[in-house]
Amino acid sequence: MKIESAQFEFAAGIKEQLPKGTLPEIVFSGKSNVGKSSLINKLLNRKSLARVSGQPGKTATINFYRLDGCRFVDLPGYGYAKVSKEEKLRWAELVDGYFAEDRPVVLVIQILDMRHEPTENDMQMIQFLLHNQFPFLLLATKSDKLNVSQRRERQAALQQLSEQTHAPLHIFSARSGEGVGNLRSAIKKACES
Ligand code: GDP
Repeated sequence: MKIESAQFEFAAGIKEQLPKGTLPEIVFSGKSNVGKSSLINKLLNRKSLARVSGQPGKTATINFYRLDGCRFVDLPGYGYAKVSKEEKLRWAELVDGYFAEDRPVVLVIQILDMRHEPTENDMQMIQFLLHNQFPFLLLATKSDKLNVSQRRERQAALQQLSEQTHAPLHIFSARSGEGVGNLRSAIKKACES
């Protein structure tokens, strides 16, 4: 499977627009502005297939990317405070609608900002994944922004979360490229399993 061959396929704004789950799905989840688009672009070796924006909370659709043999599913980022109540409700309906369908999810990549403790929303998402037995890994991004002692401290805390949740921990940076190879391997393995 060549990850770099991905093509944008479809954007769903309401659950009725979700395409049929015909291929194994790799899901990207994280709070708004966590670096999800940068991560997807880095993985796919593209500058701007997924839109990187300085404006958080912009991506309010579920975006599907087609690879040979699997699909990437880019969930809209959660937890952006300035979004209206209606928009939050729409987000919840869309994302709940996605997970409520019996879809062929082979891996959820739960993205966290390595610099900070997971937010309440991050923890809710992790609980949701655990409770519903979705296979997931924890990906701590923006590792390039930490100095040596910050990194040691955050890595230890994340390692603990990883052990508690039985989810592998990946450390990543879209800027330095740290962790790209390991993540690609995990994705390939999940798609081919
Ligand atoms: P999204 O809203 O989760 O899709 O986040 P974006 O990919 O749009 O990134 C949000 C901001 O974080 C942008 O200014 C990116 O340039 C920056 N960013 C994303 N990933 C990294 C990273 O690994 N390192 C650094 N230093 N900045 C990053």
